[in-house]
Amino acid sequence: MTRICIPIVAETIDNFIKDIKKAEILSDLIELRIDYIKDFKIDKLEKLIKNCTKDFIITCRPKNNGGKFEGNEKERISILEKAIDLECPFIDLEIETENKTILNLINKKQKTKIILSYHDFKKTNSLKKLKIKYDEMNSYFPDFLKIVTYANSINDNFNIFSLLNEKSNLISFCMGIRGHISRILTAKYGSYISYVCLEEGKESADGQISAKYIEDVYNFSSINKETKVLGVLGSVAENSKSKFMHNANFKKKKLNFIYIPFKVRKEELKELIKNFKIFEFRGGAVTIPHKEDIMQYFNNIDNTAKIIGATNTFVNDNSIFSGHNTDYYGAEHALKEITKLKDKKILVIGAGGAARSLCYVLNKEKSNFTIINRTYEKAKLLADEFNGSCSKFKELKKEINNNDIIINTTSVGMNPNNNECIIEEKIFPKNKIIMDMVYNPIETVLIKLANKNNCTIITGDRMLAYQAIGQFKLWTGVDPYFDLMQKALLEHLDE
Ligand code: NAP
Repeated sequence: MTRICIPIVAETIDNFIKDIKKAEILSDLIELRIDYIKDFKIDKLEKLIKNCTKDFIITCRPKNNGGKFEGNEKERISILEKAIDLECPFIDLEIETENKTILNLINKKQKTKIILSYHDFKKTNSLKKLKIKYDEMNSYFPDFLKIVTYANSINDNFNIFSLLNEKSNLISFCMGIRGHISRILTAKYGSYISYVCLEEGKESADGQISAKYIEDVYNFSSINKETKVLGVLGSVAENSKSKFMHNANFKKKKLNFIYIPFKVRKEELKELIKNFKIFEFRGGAVTIPHKEDIMQYFNNIDNTAKIIGATNTFVNDNSIFSGHNTDYYGAEHALKEITKLKDKKILVIGAGGAARSLCYVLNKEKSNFTIINRTYEKAKLLADEFNGSCSKFKELKKEINNNDIIINTTSVGMNPNNNECIIEEKIFPKNKIIMDMVYNPIETVLIKLANKNNCTIITGDRMLAYQAIGQFKLWTGVDPYFDLMQKALLEHLDE
């Protein structure tokens, strides 16, 4: 079972001891990063370790290996020797250390277990090269091997999963934001340790997730080799809120699934889907900007997704990938809980992917709607396809006054451009129904102005929660708790 380890990175002995106490509550073991302590003297080591009640690792990483130790190599090694003399449970020893010193420390280790470590702060090598590195390190017969690399591509993580599948006594994952998935899936692939930080701001490496977050959001302690993996694929997938809704439901429903963000570029999609197939991941969600591009890699596309021309959901059934669209369902239900769609005049602002799902619904409902978009040609094409009308963007004021329901499907107002609004305050209408599909933030300027002008509002989280119901059912075959989805979403909307 993977053990959760929190590195202690305080700069003074007093703060170090305070953090040891906090970290022990949240972890299985802790790593004492001696190199972080300013002007550390070796005679302080004994006092320091007396504060540990659980297993701990002594690490004194040199500067040229990504650490902070300012003393010379002789001083550094004497700290590790002292740790062995004091029978510390683990020491971390870098493979770059002089050959003779590694052999010497391994020979005299007695009760202490040696973690021989290798860090590549720039890249992740091929599986073949990683295996060569493992074998080279293993020739010293350490107790554990730690191989940590930097993920430049989401697909780098799969080299690490393969390595974990093939080798034993291994601690391995990728650093960096694109390496997040490997830090979470360490538990599925049997890494001996997963490193998490005590809290945000106390990371010892790029991409570390906090102990509380990895448990609260990803149910880390319940991940095992049977866990079915789902992911949200997007260029900024890390900002997606759907992980809160789905993982909360997996926990409550006792379903052994996990839903994690895959930060992926367009040119990496093909290989990622191939990896989903090889590693038998169950499927996922698709977000900006891949909803259309990804369709070419699926075996089947359901009829609705075909008509809409975009998928936001996919399922892997024994290597057959099917694409679906649940956005339309989300838009339809978010609207219908507030208003009828018949006998109303509806203005759709925007003509991108979200607008397509909405226009599908409006056409299905035989609604009277007009599309207005910055790029007129796109509005025209969409209107022709779904039996709507269209108008030039300079007609916005007139169209706002002509319609009863106004729906923003553009990304204007979305984080980080929170101060922007598709409708200027001076032309803002009164007493209309205003829907904003943007859900990050939930209180967009558009929604604030709508409230101020006595309009009925529909915020983006309603559509998001409704579309998630369909996704959940497609992946698991069961219905989620809708109330729990909404609650999980609202709790995390400001993150
Ligand atoms: P998209 O396909 O990239 O389309 C973006 C749309 O926004 C286009 O019509 C674009 O106009 C317009 N736009 C962008 N910047 C603009 C600006 N400065 N001024 C005027 N128009 C601008 O994106 P999408 O997938 O449709 O997503 C749009 C928004 O909907 C995002 O905020 C997304 O998070 C949200 N969304 C929410 C849900 C939900 O469940 N609540 C579901 C899906 C999407 P041009 O055609 O002229 O470029």
